[in-house]
Amino acid sequence: MDGEFDYLIVGSGSAGSVLAERLAAAGKRVLVLEAGGSDRRLFVQMPLGYGKLFFDHRVNWGYRTEPDAGLNGQSDYWPRGKLLGGSSSINAMVWIRGHASDYADWQQATGRADWGWQAALQAYRQIEDSADGADMWRGQGGPLHIRSGKTHAHRLVEPFLQACEAAGLARNDDFNGAQQEGVGTYQLTIKNGRRNSVARAFLRPALKTGRVALRKHAHVTRVLLDGRRAVGVEYRWKGGFHRAQAGEVILAGGAINTPQLLMLSGIGPGTMLAEQGIETVLDQPNVGAHLNDHQGINYSYRMTVPTMNNLLRPWWGKAWAGMQYLLTGGGPLAVSINHAGGFFKTDPALERPNMQLYFQAFSTLMPREDERPILTPDAFPGLSIGLSNCRPTSRGHLALASPDPLAAPRIHGNVLSTAQDVDEMLKAVKLIRRIAAQAPFSSLIAEELRPGPAIRDDDALIDDFRQRSGTVFHPSCTARMGRDPSNSVVDPDLRVHGIDGLRICDASAFPTLIGGNTNAPAILIGWLGAQRILATG
Ligand SMILES: Cc1cc2nc3c(=O)[nH]c(=O)nc-3n(C[C@H](O)[C@H](O)[C@H](O)COP(=O)(O)OP(=O)(O)OC[C@H]3O[C@@H](n4cnc5c(N)ncnc54)[C@H](O)[C@@H]3O)c2cc1C
Repeated sequence: MDGEFDYLIVGSGSAGSVLAERLAAAGKRVLVLEAGGSDRRLFVQMPLGYGKLFFDHRVNWGYRTEPDAGLNGQSDYWPRGKLLGGSSSINAMVWIRGHASDYADWQQATGRADWGWQAALQAYRQIEDSADGADMWRGQGGPLHIRSGKTHAHRLVEPFLQACEAAGLARNDDFNGAQQEGVGTYQLTIKNGRRNSVARAFLRPALKTGRVALRKHAHVTRVLLDGRRAVGVEYRWKGGFHRAQAGEVILAGGAINTPQLLMLSGIGPGTMLAEQGIETVLDQPNVGAHLNDHQGINYSYRMTVPTMNNLLRPWWGKAWAGMQYLLTGGGPLAVSINHAGGFFKTDPALERPNMQLYFQAFSTLMPREDERPILTPDAFPGLSIGLSNCRPTSRGHLALASPDPLAAPRIHGNVLSTAQDVDEMLKAVKLIRRIAAQAPFSSLIAEELRPGPAIRDDDALIDDFRQRSGTVFHPSCTARMGRDPSNSVVDPDLRVHGIDGLRICDASAFPTLIGGNTNAPAILIGWLGAQRILATG
């Protein structure tokens, strides 16, 4: 592309778009190469269109993991956004920063207060435009609109929250506020009934400055290196290979693609690179290692009262909801799949919550080809209560399946592979049943459908979650940040250890997995990362 660029960013996802906007705001010239295409699609903009994007390979990398012993030998499906806005354009829009102590962990891993809780809190308050208004925890007037979950809550949310209280969980009005623990409604990245992705909140405003150039459908295939200095990238565009150069290259391709790109460029575990016939530039065993992700499971119930199933299943209900959405921007299609939830401890002695709870006022037991059937739920009234772990101790890793840059890498999830992860999951699923047993909520439940009343003892419950659980889409830490090159890939200024002119800024660089959903911390790493890059450029 024409022009001289200070920075070349690979990927326009949660971190990449924020980084582009921040660098441009500081007067820098930025080139963004994005493998996917436009986000101007109805099902991207419409919040409940989420289900339609889940398997759509036009906007989704649609990875599959290797068969996993932790899942009784099954492989899991791992969607990742492949379009402007990256995974923020296909995600479930829940806005959770994580626990304050997660950022203390980041500070400890990096040895730097710039990644600690006070720095994160200050940045989040600048990033946010909270519909609930500003206070000492929340920000207002920032680029990213955060809608309150309270105003659009489904009528079954309140009975569910009362059941949680009866089961011993406290109410919490703001999981991003003074404390994370408790139950309530989720804040969402939705603005005026439309998904508020980073493409909308950051990339488009950045493009308007004239300092950011964007090339869509540009799949970066390797980093160009002069010895141990990055000088640009090679990318595939319109059937041919092209090259682009900039003062610095910043990888923001996400937790799967960024380590893959490093490996394709000769930066990774030497033995594995040799097996693929790739010349090693830097033998770095931490590339693709430390893969950490949240694992979740749903319990599903047939109800005695109408749920969203009754609304969205019949054709006339869909037509009504569609009309309502198109005419007013509201109604059932303008909400997230997750209506409520919260955070709890499986053991009161724990210092911080280790489980996250989700409530969905519909059920989707019937499999449908190529769609997560949210827009066509079950034909009877149903709902789902789900949960996921916050800081699993199991670790997976990534490897190249082939030197072909367009081939998917091998993902070894290795989930539920420690006794601790299995034990806390077992305690957690028992709490779901305790919640469902609380009156008067219990009187609204006709029967438990999954796993069903026959699954009772510990072995059966464990086998059930090995059989039915899956990722909740938060892979992280595969090119993690740290002080020591022997156990990390980038330094606290996001520079790849041992390589000049190359940085990483996305969820792969998280030092540790955050206890909560990962869009907010990925946006944070873009925001704070820009500060580190500008300070050390
Ligand atoms: C289905 C789903 C639901 C989720 N729900 C939530 C939620 O409700 N709340 C929440 O907080 N988090 C959620 N997440 C997680 C969250 O969205 C991600 O953690 C976050 O967006 C990751 O940001 P990132 O910048 O690391 O990568 P991404 O946002 O994935 O961005 C990476 C970008 O790089 C591009 N790219 C990759 N490789 C190349 C290449 N070689 N050349 C050019 N471009 C490339 C990709 O196409 C993509 O646009 C969800 C994720 C998914 C997939």
